[in-house]
Amino acid sequence: LVVVVGSLNVDSTSYVGAFPEPGETIRSHGFQVALGGKGSNQAVAAHVVGASVDLVARLGADAAGDFAVATLERFGLPTAAIGRAADAPTGVAQITVADSGENTIIVTSGANLAVTPAVVDAERERIASAALVLTQGELPVATIDRVAELAAGAGVRFVLNLAPPAPVAAATLASSDPLVLNEHEARAVGIGTDAADASLDAWRDAAASAVGRIARSIVVTLGGSGAVAASVDGSWTAPAPAVDAVDTTGAGDGFTGALAAFLAEGRPLEEALRIAVAAGALAVQARGTVDSYASRAAVLRTAGA
Ligand code: ADP
Repeated sequence: LVVVVGSLNVDSTSYVGAFPEPGETIRSHGFQVALGGKGSNQAVAAHVVGASVDLVARLGADAAGDFAVATLERFGLPTAAIGRAADAPTGVAQITVADSGENTIIVTSGANLAVTPAVVDAERERIASAALVLTQGELPVATIDRVAELAAGAGVRFVLNLAPPAPVAAATLASSDPLVLNEHEARAVGIGTDAADASLDAWRDAAASAVGRIARSIVVTLGGSGAVAASVDGSWTAPAPAVDAVDTTGAGDGFTGALAAFLAEGRPLEEALRIAVAAGALAVQARGTVDSYASRAAVLRTAGA
């Protein structure tokens, strides 16, 4: 079992020629509503590659919440650990994408802020029964720290995707196995290379030098270049295959969900890394976020695993 204690957002995206000025009303040339929080995305990604997943999250008692539940059910995810906050809206991101490719994003955390340390405590047994518990930087810092403490106390593997970067306790980072970061997040926690266009090998060495110092193990994703990982057992590079990227939204979440799923199966970090890179590369070749995640069979075939 993979337990994801995570954010759940509904993204509303308007596609426009150019951004409106203050006070101006414009017409969009497209609109879309989709599941978008990192917690819910990663839960779906882990599920579609074969993990059994419980998502601990909070929604508002509103139509966006109903949409989120319906979407999770369409994928076959259990929703028993998803509660409704009485006095907060479902977390939403209002996204505007201009023809230039630029975007503006307004995030309302809403009910995600109701995922408190007390909610985590109430899920103590669920967490203790998991092979792995996964969380992200979108929840309140005290909540992330509490998940790490409970996982450590129960001897459950803790995986932290610190996206966006958040000032979690040093002990939380230290127990992360792995701490999963993109290039910007890695630099934010003090893992990086001097070169702006550093190679996979340079990033692998930077990750290796942070093992034990910052986190128990570390994974850094590097977009179209692939990803690297390091633990006490060694350090590895996993180049991404050259693909035609049509939509990179949610690729990082697809990567992290797959990584967690295969680690929970007991695969070594080196192998889970290669499989997660394949999952990320497949996700960028399809439109959408949760709808771009490929099946277990496709991911394993692409990884040659
Ligand atoms: P984030 O979106 O969180 O910043 P990255 O951009 O590092 O994350 O992408 C995460 C993973 O998705 C990469 O490690 C890789 O596996 C895959 N990926 C992203 N962009 C591409 C691409 N252009 N080609 C192939 N794989 C990609």
